[in-house]
Amino acid sequence: MWQRCRDFHGHVCPGLALGYVGTLLALAKLREIDRAEDEDLVAVVESDACFVDAVQVLTGCTFGKGNFLHKDYGKIALTLFSRRSGRGVRVALKGEVPAWNPEHAELLKKVMNGRADEAERARFQELHARRTWEILAADPESLFDSTTVDGPIPERARMEPSEPCSGCGEPTMPSKMVTGPSGLLCRACAESSRSGQERRPLP
Ligand SMILES: [Zn+2]
Ligand SMILES: [Zn+2]
Repeated sequence: MWQRCRDFHGHVCPGLALGYVGTLLALAKLREIDRAEDEDLVAVVESDACFVDAVQVLTGCTFGKGNFLHKDYGKIALTLFSRRSGRGVRVALKGEVPAWNPEHAELLKKVMNGRADEAERARFQELHARRTWEILAADPESLFDSTTVDGPIPERARMEPSEPCSGCGEPTMPSKMVTGPSGLLCRACAESSRSGQERRPLP
């Protein structure tokens, strides 16, 4: 499964490793309270970084199926619900997890803003891989706190016929539109009328 996470994400990194460990922990905890065999799961993630790719691979919850939801909190945390029982488990990275070592953190900054030379990039990769393996080898409960969550479970993905937006004419889910001066407007039109942004068709 680690291999599949790696293939899906495209590289190996500490964030993916945290997603792997945290998701397996959440799945195990959920099975303890909800002996679900044919799982109808819903995942709510609180990050939009590397972490969440392992969540999608391991739980089968995906953005497109509508059972993978994102809250933009910037936290390494995941809540996994069983729709059948209505119960859920939230795992969140502990506060006292060892911070990045200063050399690793310094190199990350350099790599991110393109100032690292070849030797520094190599050293960064070495430290990055080391931290990844440390996470994978750790006791999951030393990394994550877990708590039970009893609802409410996010609604199922909506399916509804689209209607044309009164601004751009593009078919849009009515539940996602807002009321404008001349009828329902898609959010993009509503936002661009506020920001003055304009889209023109390609010649
Ligand atoms: Zn990554
Ligand atoms: Zn529109």
